Amino acid sequence: PENVRVYEFAEKIGKTAGDVIKVLFALGMMVTKNDFLSKDEIEILAEEFGVEVTTMNPLDELDYVQVYDAKPNENLEERPPVITIMGHVDHGKTSLLDRIRSAKVADKEAGGITQHVGAYQIEKEGKKITFVDTPGHEAFTEMRSRGAQATDIVIIVVAADDGVMPQTKEAIAHTKAAGVPMIVAINKIDKPNANPDNVKAQLAEIDVMAADWGGEYEFVPVSAHSGEGIDELLETILLQAEVMELEADPTREAKAVVVESSLEKGFGPVANVIIKNGTLHVGDNVIVGTTYGRIRAIKLDDGSNVKEIGPSTPAAIVGLNEVPGAGETLVVMENEKEARELAEKRAEYERAKQLSKSTKASLEDLSALI
Ligand code: GDP
Ligand code: MG
Repeated sequence: PENVRVYEFAEKIGKTAGDVIKVLFALGMMVTKNDFLSKDEIEILAEEFGVEVTTMNPLDELDYVQVYDAKPNENLEERPPVITIMGHVDHGKTSLLDRIRSAKVADKEAGGITQHVGAYQIEKEGKKITFVDTPGHEAFTEMRSRGAQATDIVIIVVAADDGVMPQTKEAIAHTKAAGVPMIVAINKIDKPNANPDNVKAQLAEIDVMAADWGGEYEFVPVSAHSGEGIDELLETILLQAEVMELEADPTREAKAVVVESSLEKGFGPVANVIIKNGTLHVGDNVIVGTTYGRIRAIKLDDGSNVKEIGPSTPAAIVGLNEVPGAGETLVVMENEKEARELAEKRAEYERAKQLSKSTKASLEDLSALI
């Protein structure tokens, strides 16, 4: 992580920027005094000048997520699992999400207009399950790349007539790399040419062995069209969730993950979030990456407005100053001043980093500096 500029490094070790630039120049690295040094460059310089350095990202100092995580949870309670469905195109992700949603929240929808909040929640045997319904793959990788993980369990959908395809393998690779448990849903079993055993064999070849074949993964045959197997799939999710002992502390301040965001007429920036821990209230001051704000409204997927939401609940929130990025983490701060100052510091640092990246050292610049 780039965390110190050339001249700052020089000052710290009692040299001039020119000394530092010369050393790097001799090694074929062109920098100007305002450039940020990479970790590698710092290590080279430390050796060259015989100084001890410990590298640390300055954003760490401003890392409200770390600060949040360092505080203890005092009232842990069970929380619903958050599920993402992934798989090859046309294998039935959307159909499955629609089938699960319509089967379980139909009565709620009777009068109301549903709101797209990037995820929805259903209830099965008195237990809640949250399904992320943004395009699974992108949201999942985006979040992973930002170090946030909204998903507890991934459902890999494979069409029984089509079998394992490139995006099936990709989705499995992402899931395994993230260390997230996986359940396989073999979809379209209503089709005459469905061949679930073929899917099992193909997956066994890539180390995804079905539990009934002695492996560690649950496979559930389903049909998004007929509804067959959907109950079993939900039961399998709940069993897996139970094993995982998913917990959160609803009594503390909130931490949430942004799954989607947009600028909406009449509302301004809207972020679709899933609460990871704590309870988020209308009126809370929050920071999300380089933006901040005060929660003005919380909207659930059934279109209703609520005053607060707890762990694993998906909702659209209004009140941020800018549109945050997907995968960013929202944390509640003491007050507006604290949230604003921290967001501004982070924004300033990000800008400086961008600027430094776009600055190319010309030979004239170099000779002037040396
Ligand atoms: P996605 O690209 O993974 O989101 O797949 P879709 O949900 O859009 O489904 C792709 C196609 O497969 C659509 O024409 C669906 O109607 C069809 N489909 C999805 N699930 C089933 C199923 O269980 N049985 C059958 N016969 N067709 C299905
Ligand atoms: Mg789809």
